Amino acid sequence: MRVLIMSDMEGVSGIVTWDWVNYGSPMYQEGRRLYTQEINAAVRGAKAAGATEIVVVDCHGAGGDMSFNSLIPEDLHPDCEFVAHHTWGRYTEILERGCDAALMVGMHARAGTPDGVMCHTISTTTWRSVWFNDDEVGEFGINAALCGHYGCPVVMVTGDEATEREAKEIMGDGLEAVVVKKGLSRFSARQVPPVRARQMIEDGAKRALLDLPKKRTRPYIPGKPTTITVHLSTVDTASRFMGRPGVELIDPLKAVSVAEDWMTAWNQVWHY
Ligand SMILES: [Zn+2]
Repeated sequence: MRVLIMSDMEGVSGIVTWDWVNYGSPMYQEGRRLYTQEINAAVRGAKAAGATEIVVVDCHGAGGDMSFNSLIPEDLHPDCEFVAHHTWGRYTEILERGCDAALMVGMHARAGTPDGVMCHTISTTTWRSVWFNDDEVGEFGINAALCGHYGCPVVMVTGDEATEREAKEIMGDGLEAVVVKKGLSRFSARQVPPVRARQMIEDGAKRALLDLPKKRTRPYIPGKPTTITVHLSTVDTASRFMGRPGVELIDPLKAVSVAEDWMTAWNQVWHY
C-alpha cells in the first residue's frame, strides 16, 4: 500500500499564531518540533495499517529558504521518505505511479472562516476565496482535487474543528477527521495537548487505512468541464491573472478559468 501524507503546520496541536510557523520568528523552531512529531504519528499509523511506501510532502510556506522545508530531518520516522523544497501543489510523482490513499495532516481552514485557526487560502493577502464549480474550497480542497485527478482518495484530515467541517463538505462524512483543536477565533484555540493529539492521529491514520477496502471516501473530482473562480483581495493582484490563456478577469476582483477538466483549469490559473 502506497500512502501520500500532505502536511501543513497551521493545524498542528500547540500552534495557534504566525510566530510558530514563520521562518525567523521566535517560536518557529519549536513549531517545527511539534509539526515533525505529528507527521511521525501519522507515519506510525500508516505503517501499522500495512503501508509499504509512505511519502511525506511538506506543503508549508514558512518563508525564505525554509518554505516547504520545515520538517526536521533528524527527527523524522525512518519508515517514511520526505519531499522538501518542492513547489506547492506540484508534487505528483507518487500520484502518477498510483497511490492508494492520501492523509492530510496539520491542515487549516480556508480564508474567511471565523473559527478557523490561522485560516487562509494560499496567501493571506492575495486570495479571498476559491471555487471549483459550486464548491468553495481552501487548501484542503485544492490538494484533494490534485489527488483526485490521479484517482487517489483523501481518507484522513487532521487540524481544527473548522478544517474538519470544510474537509467533510468535500469528501463526505466517511472522511476520518482528527480534531486537535477548536478555534475560538482566528488566533486562539482550545487544544488537545500534543502528546494526546499524536496518539489520536496515529490511531486515526491506522483506522482510515484499514478501512480502505470499504471505500469510505471517493477521489474528489470536480465536475467536467470545470470552472475555477478566484476572488481576489486587492485589485493590484489582478495583474497576476492577466494574459493567461483560458483565464478571464470578469471583474476587477474576480478571475475565472474554464477547461475540460480540473487539472487543466488549475494549470491555467495557478501562478506560483
Ligand atoms: Zn502552512
